[in-house]
Amino acid sequence: MIIDVSDVRKNKGNSERFQGSLPDLHLDMPDQDASFYDLQVNCEATNTGEGIYVEGEITGRLDLTCSLCLNRFTVDLKTPFAENFYREGESVPEDLEDPVQFYHGEKIDLSDTLKENLVLTLPMKPLCMPDCRGLCPHCGCDLNIQQCSCKDEQLDPRLAVLGDLLKGLDLENK
Ligand SMILES: [Zn+2]
Ligand SMILES: [Zn+2]
Repeated sequence: MIIDVSDVRKNKGNSERFQGSLPDLHLDMPDQDASFYDLQVNCEATNTGEGIYVEGEITGRLDLTCSLCLNRFTVDLKTPFAENFYREGESVPEDLEDPVQFYHGEKIDLSDTLKENLVLTLPMKPLCMPDCRGLCPHCGCDLNIQQCSCKDEQLDPRLAVLGDLLKGLDLENK
C-alpha cells in the first residue's frame, strides 16, 4: 500500500486519512502456517514538522493451525500500527532509537511496516479455543470430538505422591 503525502508534506500539522486494501499474505514457517486475507487498512498521516507520522489500524481475517488438535481455524484480526517516516535526504532527529524508516519523493510505501505488524499478531501457540483438548497421544483421535478408550499411562504426579504416602503408612502398620 502506497500513500501520496504531497499535500501532507506542505505544512507542519497537515494530516490526511487514507484507506486501502492489502493483498493476501501467506506465511509458511516451520511451526506456523498462517494465511491473512480480507485485509483493510485505515490510517492517518500527519506532518510532525520533522517527518510524517502514520497511525492506523489493520483489519482482516487470519487462518491458523491449532497447536494442540492441528485443525485449521479462523480469527478476526484488528491491530493498530504507527510509524514515523522521514524523507530521504532531509535531516533526521538525532535521538531516535528505532531504525529509521525513509520515504522517497511524495509517496510512502507502507508495505513493510504493515507486514511487520501483521507478523507481530501471530500467537506463539495458536489455540482453536481456550480449552482445546488436543489429540490423544496414543491413537491420535481428536479429543474435542470423541473420547477414545486409551488409558493415559503417565500417572498424575499428585497421585504418585499420594501413592508413596500410602506405601509409607503400610510399612508403619506392620
Ligand atoms: Zn484445537
Ligand atoms: Zn486414544
